[in-house]
Amino acid sequence: MNLPNLEEARKRTNKKVTIKKNSYDFQSIYKGKKYFLKTYGCQMNVHDSEEIRKYLELLGFEPTNDLKQADIVVLNTCAIRENAHDKVFGYLGRCKHLKHEKPDLLICIGGCMSQEEKVVEEIKTKHPYVDIVFGTHNIHELPQMILDAQQKQNISVYSIEGDVYENVLYSRDSKISAWVNIMYGCDKFCTYCIVPYTRGKQRSRTLENILDEVKLLKKEGYQEVTLLGQNVNAYGKDLDPQLSFSQLLEEVAKTKISRIRFVTSHPWDFTSEMIDTIAKYDNIMPYIHLPIQSGSNQILRLMGRRYTKEDYLKLFQEIKEKVKGVSITTDIIVGFPNESEQDFLETLDVVRQCQFDGAFTFIYSPREGTPASKIKDNVSLKEKEERLAKLNELVNFYSLQNNKKLEDKVVPVLILGKNEKDATKLYGYTDTMKLVNVCGSSAHIGKIVDVKIKCAKSFSLDGVIE
Ligand code: SF4
Repeated sequence: MNLPNLEEARKRTNKKVTIKKNSYDFQSIYKGKKYFLKTYGCQMNVHDSEEIRKYLELLGFEPTNDLKQADIVVLNTCAIRENAHDKVFGYLGRCKHLKHEKPDLLICIGGCMSQEEKVVEEIKTKHPYVDIVFGTHNIHELPQMILDAQQKQNISVYSIEGDVYENVLYSRDSKISAWVNIMYGCDKFCTYCIVPYTRGKQRSRTLENILDEVKLLKKEGYQEVTLLGQNVNAYGKDLDPQLSFSQLLEEVAKTKISRIRFVTSHPWDFTSEMIDTIAKYDNIMPYIHLPIQSGSNQILRLMGRRYTKEDYLKLFQEIKEKVKGVSITTDIIVGFPNESEQDFLETLDVVRQCQFDGAFTFIYSPREGTPASKIKDNVSLKEKEERLAKLNELVNFYSLQNNKKLEDKVVPVLILGKNEKDATKLYGYTDTMKLVNVCGSSAHIGKIVDVKIKCAKSFSLDGVIE
């Protein structure tokens, strides 16, 4: 692979919109008013909500977890599954009820669902009490839309992607670990996935802007960044000149921020150079989320995943060999159309071979608007549920087995905060992304501490600070 000169890449320009910070000088307008923000879906949405929250706070709103207290409700929606639609519209019913009691309440819908034409149509015709609809490409317009919303229903959703937003302001969830968008959208068009339609085609941010953001976060005391994209391994392919994700990773590693993670990886774009870079730097964490989706080549082809089971296993092996102590998790869908018992058994076989540290497992349900939704959904719900149960049993077995290997070992843990269920405990993550609960004081929060693992469970570890 012929890699471009980094200096040249730094100077490269990309189509972008620079947000002027003084556009948001609305400080006191809504002072004393409350906002309620509900986020559905993936990490991308969680990070988008950090941007939405910043705009609401710049307008003077304060957060509330009590819907009844809210003066503005923002639902940041997800479109990945069909039932997401029902959940959001179910929640809208509660907001409508509240608006009867509180006519000035502003109701806003953003996120992936708003990018769907039929949803916008449904809101216009059946839910006129919704004040604002904004999309994934124009979150930055929200402050102005709120200011304009008193008059009429305000709908603005960009249907065409293409912009890369810079100087975006965030009110981040954590002061220790931060999401950093490195790209927007996805070009892979897996047949079951709505993301390329709701978030648009792939657009990478510049290396220079990403590095500036990471350096600033480090200066502010952040210990960890997670580079975020629908398919991070394809980072830079759309830039001119092209840049590779391994080059980006290497440059981020050189900033010397303590911990670097990235999600999500597509096996198709995972190169040997990337694996070498991950192995080379101590501050790139030995943890990779590598979705396989199915262990059957027939199903992978129908899913449009563009790799075979053999390709995946070869890549998996190379990562395990080169990256010391790496943990690998995956995503698996069961019951995709035409998935036979034999196809499913092949998936179980791959799980046995890989012995994943964990897996997010899903039952397939057709997503309207995707190519897969046109294939007859011919696996019964009963079969799907049975397959899921068998798969989960196997996945949990390996998860526990891998966690047990850490018992009595001392591992570095970044302490993120207090355990929500048990105030006497703190929680954090190992370099391999395993959740650890420990006893400790607030002074440990934000620090990387050595923890001796005392007890391993399937989904977490208990330990003591050394
Ligand atoms: S890689 Fe496939 S599953 Fe992932 S966001 Fe892109 S189209 Fe969807």
